[in-house]
Amino acid sequence: MSAAAHHTQWIRAAARRHGFDHCGIAQAVALDDDARRLERWLGQGYQGDMQYMENHFDLRVDPRKLVPGARSVITFLLNYYPEEEATSDVRVARYAWGQDYHDVIRSKLNALLAEARVAIGAIEGRGFVDSAPVLERSWAQRSGLGWVGKNGNLIHKGAGSYFFIATLITDLELEYDDPFARDYCGSCTRCIQACPTEAILPDKTIDGSRCISYFTIELKDALIPAEMEGKFGNWMFGCDTCQEVCPWNRFSSPHQETAFTPIPEVLKLSSGEWEQLSEEAFRKIFRGSPLSRARHKGIQRNLRFLKGNESL
Ligand code: SF4
Ligand code: SF4
Repeated sequence: MSAAAHHTQWIRAAARRHGFDHCGIAQAVALDDDARRLERWLGQGYQGDMQYMENHFDLRVDPRKLVPGARSVITFLLNYYPEEEATSDVRVARYAWGQDYHDVIRSKLNALLAEARVAIGAIEGRGFVDSAPVLERSWAQRSGLGWVGKNGNLIHKGAGSYFFIATLITDLELEYDDPFARDYCGSCTRCIQACPTEAILPDKTIDGSRCISYFTIELKDALIPAEMEGKFGNWMFGCDTCQEVCPWNRFSSPHQETAFTPIPEVLKLSSGEWEQLSEEAFRKIFRGSPLSRARHKGIQRNLRFLKGNESL
C-alpha cells in the first residue's frame, strides 16, 4: 500500500473515531470558478454588513496560501439534527440548540491533528470551522460529499443538510475522492418559495443581507429594517425554513454528539419568559451556546421585532 493510501485510511478512521459523520478529501488547488462567483456575490453587496466576508479574498480562493505547501483539503461533516422538538412559541435554528459548534469542532480537529503528528510524523495542518477564509461547501462538493442546493446548503444524498462543515488543510499527500458530479435539486423550488424574505435568488445565489439568520444574529445591535416586518414568522434566532422544506432532509437522522444536546430552555422558554429573562440569567444559561453571540440585547431586539414594536 502506498504512503498516501495508508495515510488516507488513517485519516478516515480518525474522523470516525472523533465522531465525524462523513469525511471527504480533495486536492488543494486554487478555486478559480468559486473566486469569480464570490467576487460577483460580494459585488452585489449580498454580504450586507458582514464585512468579514470581504476579507482575505486571496487566501479564501487558494488553500495553498492559507497553509504553505498544502496538498490536501480534508472535509468533515458533523450532524447536528436533534431528535427533540421545541415547544416554545418563538423559534431558534436547530444548529444553536446545544453548545457552540465552533468549540466542539475545533477541539476535535486539534486532537485529530495532534494524533496525526504522532502516527504519521511532522505534518503541517490547519483546521477551520465556519471560517470566512475557507469555502467549505465548495470543498465538500469537491470531496464527493454532496451538492450545494438552491438554498445554499450542502446536501448529502443519504443524510440531508443538517451538518456542520469543517476543513483541515494539510501538506500531507492523500488519495482524493471524486467530486460530487450531480445536482439532485432538479426542478424543485420548495426552498425558494418557502423563504419568507425572498433571500434565495436564482442560480443558487443567496442574498445574505436578506436572510433571517443575518438579521437576527449578524446584524448585532442595529435596527431590523421595517420592510421585513411581519416576515420572520416566529424565528427569534436564525431560521431553518429552507432546510425544513427540503425533501432531502427526510433522510436526516438524530446526531450522536452529546455536546449538541439541547439546553432545555432553548426548547421551552415562551416569548413572555424570554422577555422576562434577566441579562444575568441569560449569561448563565447560555454560556457556551451560539445564542450568547447575539447577547441578551440582541435577543431582546429580536423579540421586540417579532412583536412589531421595535421602535418602542
Ligand atoms: S434561512 Fe430562512 S431567511 Fe435565510 S434563506 Fe433560508 S428560508 Fe430564507
Ligand atoms: S428544497 Fe428543493 S431546490 Fe431547495 S435545496 Fe432542497 S431539493 Fe434543492
